[in-house]
Amino acid sequence: MTLRRRKLIVLGIIAAVFLTANTLTLAGWLDEVGAIGLAVRFRSEFLTGTAITVIVTLLFLLISPDRVPVVGRLVIRHCPVSDHALDRQGRYCPECGSRV
Ligand SMILES: [Zn+2]
Repeated sequence: MTLRRRKLIVLGIIAAVFLTANTLTLAGWLDEVGAIGLAVRFRSEFLTGTAITVIVTLLFLLISPDRVPVVGRLVIRHCPVSDHALDRQGRYCPECGSRV
């Protein structure tokens, strides 16, 4: 565990304690501002069970653009800008010239 990670953990614990201690104040402020009513309306209108199912399914189906599809033993890379298949090693796309 690095020193940076330890510092982040300590800061996270402090923030969590402050947030927990001021939960009622925060809830009252959010109610005054109207954010709670807006969130309830948004949830009832847009976050139905079907919508949540579709969103979760899409999150599972999406792959990172960094992941490369592998065909056989060859690795086929694609340009992130023009989606041109890169059939050779190199740092730049031969079609659009962007760095890959
Ligand atoms: Zn390209």
